[in-house]
Amino acid sequence: MAEASEEVYSLLHRRFKGGLLRPGESGYDDARAIWNGMVARRPGLLAQCADVTDIQNAVRSASEIGILTAVRCGGHSLAGFSTCDGGLVIDLSRMRNVTVDAEARRARFAGGCLLGSIDSATQKVGLVFPAGVVSHTGASGLILGGGTGWLTRRFGLSCDNVEGFSLVTADGSVARANSRENPDLFWALRGGGGNFGVVTEFEVKLHPLTSVVFAEGLSPETDIEQLLEYWRDFMAEAPLDLKWNIDLRLAPLKWNIDLRLAPHKEKVPSELRGRPVAGSSLIWTGDPDAGRPLLQRALSLCNPDSVSSRIVPFMDLQTMADSDFPHGRR
Ligand SMILES: Cc1cc2nc3c(=O)[nH]c(=O)nc-3n(C[C@H](O)[C@H](O)[C@H](O)COP(=O)(O)OP(=O)(O)OC[C@H]3O[C@@H](n4cnc5c(N)ncnc54)[C@H](O)[C@@H]3O)c2cc1C
Repeated sequence: MAEASEEVYSLLHRRFKGGLLRPGESGYDDARAIWNGMVARRPGLLAQCADVTDIQNAVRSASEIGILTAVRCGGHSLAGFSTCDGGLVIDLSRMRNVTVDAEARRARFAGGCLLGSIDSATQKVGLVFPAGVVSHTGASGLILGGGTGWLTRRFGLSCDNVEGFSLVTADGSVARANSRENPDLFWALRGGGGNFGVVTEFEVKLHPLTSVVFAEGLSPETDIEQLLEYWRDFMAEAPLDLKWNIDLRLAPLKWNIDLRLAPHKEKVPSELRGRPVAGSSLIWTGDPDAGRPLLQRALSLCNPDSVSSRIVPFMDLQTMADSDFPHGRR
């Protein structure tokens, strides 16, 4: 394998505009790490592409030599699909350009974008792309697998909001996939994962939204069954502006210690600390006054001292859980 990665290196290094890193070189260890600390693999070559031509050259060289190859955007694949031992990693982390057309409510972004880069660009003009709940997650892996988050109920899956893909296919050529060009590939890329080529650009629809009402509360263990039944019936009738997540867990023992999506950092009644609870976290994307009575009803089975509700800017919602899911976690 070492020989194969050296062969790829010698094919690439004169024409590659991005960075090429081999084991032992400065920066290699930081660059090879992915989010899941359990997947500590050592690729023979990391190709940090600067543009589409770099990707084409990397794909062509990989297929010429027949080397094991992984593609990486944000590196958040829990299974470690974006790295490999001894092979080539086509790393898109230098390709994070986002262009927004506010009037058309459309954006184009590159295949190496993290969710946070897209949110920062779209929020400048009061628009959102519906994606996941942790801003350091890669957009490519998330969208190609479907993509769910706070806005899924309101605006659909991330992949439902993609209107076109540009990609480098296995023979190194550039293809487009949308409802008119390669419609079968377009269908496959919207949920089929990363096996159809290296996506270099996404063209997506955006929606107006700058803040939401965020509410949370904790229900004791004894009420969990009743809460879940209530949630099932409530959500069957609820407006699409409401999203209600429930997680089952131990309530934190101390302030500021929690590992879950809705942190409940400030309001854990003493009788619930360290106990099994159901944590409800809800958002309302419509008019705040219209949403408040609904949120109150939804939280009626929570311990009253644990309930809170406030308007949060969209960027705060999207980064709220970031520190609970640090890089290197196993
Ligand atoms: C902390 C954390 C939070 C998460 N939150 C959510 C969430 O809220 N909603 C949700 O739906 N999912 C969520 N996920 C799951 C996440 O969407 C998947 O793990 C996803 O694959 C991550 O994408 P990535 O680009 O970071 O991953 P990578 O590890 O870079 O890639 C994942 C897969 O996609 C392929 N791939 C990457 N880029 C490309 C490309 N440009 N072209 C073709 N193939 C490519 C890779 O080869 C690999 O197979 C979360 C995961 C983590 C670790």
